[in-house]
Amino acid sequence: MEPPSASSNLLYSALVVLFFVVVIVFALHLYARWFTLRARRRQLLARVRGVGRTRVVFNVDSDYNPATTVSRGLEARVLRSLPLFTYSAETHPDSVMECVVCLSEFEENESGRILPKCKHSFHTECSDMWFYSHSTCPLCRTPVEEYKPTPTNPGDVALTIHEPRGL
Ligand SMILES: [Zn+2]
Ligand SMILES: [Zn+2]
Repeated sequence: MEPPSASSNLLYSALVVLFFVVVIVFALHLYARWFTLRARRRQLLARVRGVGRTRVVFNVDSDYNPATTVSRGLEARVLRSLPLFTYSAETHPDSVMECVVCLSEFEENESGRILPKCKHSFHTECSDMWFYSHSTCPLCRTPVEEYKPTPTNPGDVALTIHEPRGL
């Protein structure tokens, strides 16, 4: 009774091996299919995303740019209302004044603008350039509003007292 059981054992293990081989081949086949599908889908997705991205950029460029540039910049009226001063070591003896846009110190007889609210100062040209596209102080982000000198409030005019043209 021994030989048949041994051969059936052999047959059995051969079947098991064969079964595993089939399973592995099938799995490999599935994996390969999944892989190519995924690659194709990824390619498609990238193409769709790329198209979407360019479309969005185009929209922003064509629709929003003119509007935002207009609304972001400071009105010329407001800019003109900011107090002007001419820097000189004599009139500003205790403070070294620095332009908050170009970060260089004011030199003798350079003209500048000062923000009444936060007292930050700019070169006149630097402020023109900055407020063309912004409406807040570059240093502290305080919104700039039209400046109306009020003689009853000495705090606001303290820094413009030395203005050569007077107030
Ligand atoms: Zn400057
Ligand atoms: Zn400021």
